[in-house]
Order: sequence, then C-alpha cells, then structure tokens
Amino acid sequence: MTEAVWINESLYEAWGQRFRVLHELARVRTPYQDIVVFESETHGRVLVLDGVIQITERDEFVYQEMLAHVPLLGHPDPRNVLIIGAGDGGVLRRVLQHRTVTRAVMVEIDGEVIRLSKEFLPNIAGEAWQDPRGDVIIGDGIDYVVRAPAASFDVIIVDSTDPVGVGEVLFTDEFYENCARVLTADGIIVNQCGVPFMQSDELRETSERRARFFPHVSAYVAAVPTYVGGFMTLGVASKGHGIETDATVLRKRATRAGILGTTRYWSPEVQAAAFVLPPYIAKCLPG
Ligand code: SAM
Repeated sequence: MTEAVWINESLYEAWGQRFRVLHELARVRTPYQDIVVFESETHGRVLVLDGVIQITERDEFVYQEMLAHVPLLGHPDPRNVLIIGAGDGGVLRRVLQHRTVTRAVMVEIDGEVIRLSKEFLPNIAGEAWQDPRGDVIIGDGIDYVVRAPAASFDVIIVDSTDPVGVGEVLFTDEFYENCARVLTADGIIVNQCGVPFMQSDELRETSERRARFFPHVSAYVAAVPTYVGGFMTLGVASKGHGIETDATVLRKRATRAGILGTTRYWSPEVQAAAFVLPPYIAKCLPG
C-alpha cells in the first residue's frame, strides 16, 4: 500500500491544518513566492503561496463573495473598481457579475499566480478573464495607486497575501494615503485583515492606519472554513457616507446589479449581520 501524502499549512509555527493530497499539479518558485497547486481529497483543488492556503475550490465562494459584494453593494453606484492581488481571478469574476460595473482593473504582482490559476483553477475565474470590462495588469499594487489619477475608482478591493514579504507594502500609510486620494467622494476600500483570534494585530494595525486617512473605519466578518481560527475579518474604510448595511436597501441594489439569487454565502441579511462584531473583535477597531 502506498503511503498517503499530506500537505501541512505553515501559517502558524505550532498549530495548523493539513490536507491529504491526491496529486500535486504545480510547484513553482517565482521571484515573489513559492506557489503550489494540488488536488485534495476533500476540498477540490487548492492554491498555496509560501506554505499558506490561499484558496480551495470548495470554500472560495465565502471569501470571494464577501470581499466583492459587500463593498460593491455597500456603495450607492459603483462603476469603476480597482482590485489589487487576487491572482486566482475569483474577485474579478464576482465584481464583473455586477452589471452596474463598467470597468474593473486588476493589478497582480505575480504573473505566475494568474497563469497557474488559468491552467489549474479555471472554475474560480470562470469567463472573467475574457470580459472586455476587465483590465488585468501585472505589477505592484502600490506603484499602481501612486500613479493613478485622483478620484478614479469608486471601490478598491485588496485581496493580498498577509502583511509579510511581497504583500507588506499593501498595509502601509503610503498605500492607504494613495488609496484615499484615488477613491471618489463616496469611495470604499476593503481588504482582508486576517483571523483576529490568531492575528489580532493585523486588524488593529490596519484599522489604526486607515483612520488617519478615512473618516469611517469598520470591519465585518465571514466564516471561511480553511482560514482556520474562527471568524475572518475584512477591514473597510470609506470617504463619504460609510457603507450601507440596511438589508432593504441592499436587496434593491442587488436586484439592480443582477446579484440577488446568484450567491451561496452573501445575502442582504448576511451583509447587515456581518458588521455586528463579537467584543473580542470589536476591540481591535479604533474608538
Ligand atoms: N483570496 C486568497 C487569500 O486571501 O488567501 C488569495 C489571495 S492571493 C491570490 C493574493 C495575491 O496577492 C497573490 O497572488 C500575490 O501575488 C498578490 N500580491 C501580493 N503582494 C502584492 C502587491 N504588492 N501588489 C499586487 N499583488 C500582490
């Protein structure tokens, strides 16, 4: 009998999850990171960057729907959207599902993540790579926002790796200051802020930084099974009226955008409830 092969996540030194591997599909070292794609027994195909699970086919819908639909429906009229990172294409797909969106620019630093996702994870982006409203750029997200004209995007979605290595610049004052400049008057920015039960500094530090440049700073939660340790938090900051959380308004907007009835995790009520934070998470926010 051949021995089972397991892949262990190396996010935390002394605790983690592991997957039984059916077969490995790719293993590539790029100038930015180590990329592994494998077929698991339980979660479909899995993308791993520097030993950290990024996406599994089985639960990607939770993270991608909450990262894309919450800011897009929380905004009164999102037309121009900037996505940073997100090389698997899942956020691009959810953004382009909104028929109100006229342009989505995606800036991913590592072209290999896109190439391998197209080859081995084609269901995650679906037809999004071919949509004429999408513009995919290989480059550093911080360089892009430094050069982008003022008030050129309604929503910015940052789907980055954690604040170590190549993703670190996307958690700095310089980055947030430029995002505030690049956003329109009602602009909203959202990014993943980790799992506070294990990484409480991530939400605390990101929220403190953003409060220097945005009048409204908040966060919402999603339970993503393979981001282990309880709720995952998504940090949000906005310039104008804040983000919409009234389920009646969200239902109307989702109908107009063509989103209602297409989702497996997001709903108007889930968006309203996701901003109700347990005290151990709320205490990571300023004020
Ligand atoms: N949604 C998953 C998650 O949060 O675990 C996947 C995120 S993964 C696809 C994040 C992507 O951000 C990676 O492909 C990485 O190359 C990209 N990235 C990291 N730093 C970046 C930067 N400075 N500019 C643009 N993209 C960056």
